[in-house]
Amino acid sequence: MKPAKFEYHAAGSPADAVALLSRLGEGGKIIAGGQSMGPMMNLRVARPEAVVDIAGATELCAVTDDGDDVLIGACVTHGQIEDGDVPDPSRGMLPHVAGGIAYRAVRNRGTIGGSVVHADPAADWVTTLIALGARIDIVGPDGSRSVQAEDFMLGAYTVSLVEGELVTAMRLPCLSEEASWGYTKLNRKVGEFADAIGAVVIDPARRFCRVVLGGLDGTPCLLHETAQAVAKGEREALPEQIRAEIERRLPEAAPGKKQIYGVALNRAVNAAIG
Ligand SMILES: Cc1cc2nc3c(=O)[nH]c(=O)nc-3n(C[C@H](O)[C@H](O)[C@H](O)COP(=O)(O)OP(=O)(O)OC[C@H]3O[C@@H](n4cnc5c(N)ncnc54)[C@H](O)[C@@H]3O)c2cc1C
Repeated sequence: MKPAKFEYHAAGSPADAVALLSRLGEGGKIIAGGQSMGPMMNLRVARPEAVVDIAGATELCAVTDDGDDVLIGACVTHGQIEDGDVPDPSRGMLPHVAGGIAYRAVRNRGTIGGSVVHADPAADWVTTLIALGARIDIVGPDGSRSVQAEDFMLGAYTVSLVEGELVTAMRLPCLSEEASWGYTKLNRKVGEFADAIGAVVIDPARRFCRVVLGGLDGTPCLLHETAQAVAKGEREALPEQIRAEIERRLPEAAPGKKQIYGVALNRAVNAAIG
């Protein structure tokens, strides 16, 4: 199936992309790896008059360190992260997650920025970036801003971008040497989106501990009480704590769903605490 006719514009930089988007108005849409946009355009779910291709913007393909955070450019691909071609502030969590996304052909083109903006609730990066305490850097006609990952995704396929804005980078704090993590993605077949994701990051040196449940119908869920129990090392109480917090936060979920959420979280917590 082929997409309907559209104009093609290549942006050489974020500033270029912002200028093109404001000239094109509502009819213009960003394309990065095209792994979600391509199918959506073929199926006429998205029918932009023009696309602004940012995949060749070098600034968006770079990974830089500003002293406090590591900035992963929006157009860095899942494959580059999987292969360790770019610096990793996460002590192996990002390459592990990247390697479990779809299959290699998708990972060669799909970008981390495209994934967070597409905001499929079952996708991997939205949950992972929240667990790591990342911020999302954005530029638009009114300048730049940065949003906590948990505030960026507003719901399924909905994010806090306004017209004319684009994501430039994921801003990640560096995990310290004592930090540990666990990531469990449950799906029926390798290469599929998740039925449930448990993501846990513990970094005692930074007094940071997050437990995130993803693969839900909407935004990933930060489990604060379970994170406190993990940070205190209340190992034996954790399965019941996880069960109770799932029950409290997602009372409407089907019993089978609650079961797999619990399995994903228990496995991720166990991997993180060792
Ligand atoms: C068969 C298949 C299996 C998949 N399995 C998984 C999986 O298991 N886990 C997973 O997480 N994902 C999966 N994906 C999705 C994949 O990771 C895509 O790469 C990702 O969803 C979109 O990234 P992209 O760079 O291709 O973005 P595109 O398709 O180019 O764009 C997606 C959306 O984001 C917007 N956009 C892109 N970049 C920016 C930016 N920098 N600023 C503002 N807007 C932007 C576009 O306008 C569009 O709305 C799968 C995809 C396929 C085709």
